[in-house]
Amino acid sequence: MASPNGTVIRNVRLPCAERYSETPAWDVTCIDGRVQSITSSGSCTPHDEATVIEANGGVLVPSLCHSHIHLDKCFILGQCDPLITGSLPEALQVTNKAKADFPKDVDNLHARATYLIRESVESGVTAMRAFVEVDTTVGFTCLDMGLQLAKEWAEVCHIQIVAFAQEALYALEASIEPGLNYNLLCDAASRPGVSVVGSAPWVEPDRAHALKNVELILSLAEKHGLHADFHLDYNLDPRATPMVWDVLQQMRQRSWCRSSGKRVTIGHATRLGLFSPEEWAELKRAMDMLPLEIVALPQSDIYMMGRTDPSGKVPVPLAGRTLNAPQVYRDHGVRVALSVNNVENAFTPQGSLDPLTLASLGVALFQVGTEPDWRVLLRSVSTTSKEAIGIMPGGEASGKSADEGDGLVPRVGDPADFVVLHGARRWQSAVLSPGFDRTTFYKGNVVARRRAQTWNANMGGEITN
Ligand SMILES: [Zn+2]
Repeated sequence: MASPNGTVIRNVRLPCAERYSETPAWDVTCIDGRVQSITSSGSCTPHDEATVIEANGGVLVPSLCHSHIHLDKCFILGQCDPLITGSLPEALQVTNKAKADFPKDVDNLHARATYLIRESVESGVTAMRAFVEVDTTVGFTCLDMGLQLAKEWAEVCHIQIVAFAQEALYALEASIEPGLNYNLLCDAASRPGVSVVGSAPWVEPDRAHALKNVELILSLAEKHGLHADFHLDYNLDPRATPMVWDVLQQMRQRSWCRSSGKRVTIGHATRLGLFSPEEWAELKRAMDMLPLEIVALPQSDIYMMGRTDPSGKVPVPLAGRTLNAPQVYRDHGVRVALSVNNVENAFTPQGSLDPLTLASLGVALFQVGTEPDWRVLLRSVSTTSKEAIGIMPGGEASGKSADEGDGLVPRVGDPADFVVLHGARRWQSAVLSPGFDRTTFYKGNVVARRRAQTWNANMGGEITN
């Protein structure tokens, strides 16, 4: 519930494109979940009963968003067989085996997912698209858990549940009709609380079945009024025909794509990194007409893609293994969201849950040293991610300076969903070296607060714990 008397976030710095570090401080007043006013710090007198949060000059940025995160298969590395090759087929194999035990230990499933949500919210996340698998191995166990957690956390974080087919919908190359996994997915897609239906078409026995998989998912989304989300074009093979064109072709044939307000999102999309300028221009034209969104998953993509293969192929350099979000925006005008995808599992053994670490990673990975590129990175884990999952309208103000037009600086009437980075004195630190101490605001209320406890031998005194 939004506080009826409002919240004043006092003494914050905003991500304005200032040249120098002495940026002015502001007070942001929030009422009924939205920004009511932004005034010079100290110049407004809060309502007697307003909640006042002293930010001590910390930096306020839009709250963060996981536009793509797997709620059920996080933190399972210890439950999987040891990794030998670290390859994608091996990841599927060991994860499938571990998954078979999910229904036998629902408490473990619930505890892992709860930890993921809690840590995310404490780092500043107020919205996430959470994938839960539905298939003959886990049945509805993961879905039930996800729907329950989405309700439990509704006042703290918007959790969008994806009924997700990680497994093939067609059992065999010879299959004409989809199999049991599809039947289960149909049931799942009709459940109240499910917002998205998704799949990984590349797991199908061949390309023809992958295309049918896309068709089935889009039809389910259309039938139940859902968003659709595909793990798509997850390769770096210039000879592989990108499936994004097939998805767009199918979207064009459905009036639902133009009238429903629902989005079709593609995750990974590493193959698009090999696009020519002409292909990007074609994609941009299509995205201006159709609600297609792109989410890159750098921690997974860099780990898994572009390795040396047994034939001795030269590995792809790190920066080429995932979509270069700042460059794609700079050169082609296409916004790409960045998201965490997995943590501590065979698909992504390493990496933090904190979306801001992706922005930092992007600075080095893509070798970007300019503030406009840093703003793109900050946006990619916050506002662009919210647009990609369809909870914030896209589009930006035109004809204004970067800080007025890119949505990073709050405006009156905006949703009051923020994270304050304490200790940061410049907005650039949110991207370059994001600190641990944070306060998360959702609908104008404080929903999480995180502080490091420190001690060092030079301080004197005793270690307290
Ligand atoms: Zn994924």
